[in-house]
Amino acid sequence: MSIRYREEIKNIQPYKPGKPIEDVKREYNIEKVVKLASNENPLGCSPKVKEAIINAVDKLAIYPDGNHTELKNILAKKHKVKADNILPSSGLDEMIDMIAKTFIGKNDEAIMADITFPRYAQTTEIMGGRPVIVPLKEFSFDLNGILEKISPRTKVIWICNPNNPTGTMITEREFVEFLDKVPSNILVISDEAYREYVTKDDYPFNSIDLTKKYENLLIMRTFSKAYGLAGIRVAYTIGNKEILQYINRVRGPFNVNSLAQVAAIAAIEDEEFLKKSYEINLQGKNFLYEEFDKLKLHYVPSETNHILVNVGRDGQEVFIEMQKRGVIIRPVMGNYIRVSIGTMDENKMFIENLIEVLKE
Ligand SMILES: *Cc1c(COP(=O)(O)O)cnc(C)c1O
Repeated sequence: MSIRYREEIKNIQPYKPGKPIEDVKREYNIEKVVKLASNENPLGCSPKVKEAIINAVDKLAIYPDGNHTELKNILAKKHKVKADNILPSSGLDEMIDMIAKTFIGKNDEAIMADITFPRYAQTTEIMGGRPVIVPLKEFSFDLNGILEKISPRTKVIWICNPNNPTGTMITEREFVEFLDKVPSNILVISDEAYREYVTKDDYPFNSIDLTKKYENLLIMRTFSKAYGLAGIRVAYTIGNKEILQYINRVRGPFNVNSLAQVAAIAAIEDEEFLKKSYEINLQGKNFLYEEFDKLKLHYVPSETNHILVNVGRDGQEVFIEMQKRGVIIRPVMGNYIRVSIGTMDENKMFIENLIEVLKE
């Protein structure tokens, strides 16, 4: 074909999402399938969200509020910032994309870990920039390693805290020491997709306050994980108003659909649901730790809703074998797989099948 594509996208691989449950049911002709591959909330979402969505259905003929005014006002109150310090997006996926479009030009550099959320590198490459990869150290971010990689071409530093897929976190003290050393003309982005699951006190729970002192810091939050709204696509970013205004220039006019806006508002108001999600996750995590210990499998202690575990066999193979039995997990690298923490029934089904697969 003679259609001419941009050079930058020639080597980009499309994102591989976790396999949908229905596909696995069809492919292997099995009835019961559990998906522990995409870190979704096994409890679903708050009943208040369902009600809000039903009430908003009558207004689907009308374009959404392109300025997300009500959502921003509620978030501003919750986080004690001004509405113009907030920019909602259609999931963090869209924000990662918008950040790349706003800041990354040809041969610009974005620093990130080797084992982290894959979209940071892909969106950098799509814009013609160069991902500068700093290997994790014992499954955690090597902040000094990142500082050493800063060059005149560095535009952005991607921090995922806690990190997907390792579940490890950076403490408040480590983060502040790091921010003190990053030149103020380099954007630091803290992707906090899993912060609602963090159990440790020394996590930077005050990260939004830090944006007042460190104007080059952006904090990203999503409704996709602990709030159980991955299907509706809504998230937001908090930081310096001027930076957000630039990102706003590349944003589509109605990026967050109207159901997503009302869903997010209702979700914020149901703190009970969030608490329940945290509790179920903690119970599931402790159960899985115990089972992994019994099986003598090495795992990385997690501050998220997923665990990276060494199954002692090729992860891709284990992934296929588990899938045949109706359990979808994610192979990560070598003998490591990532399993999302489910309901207790799902966790048990995962462990029972893992034992079978590892016996083979
Ligand atoms: C799931 C995930 C996202 C994407 O979240 P959406 O808001 O659903 O787009 C972003 N970052 C990390 C680290 C994630 O795990």
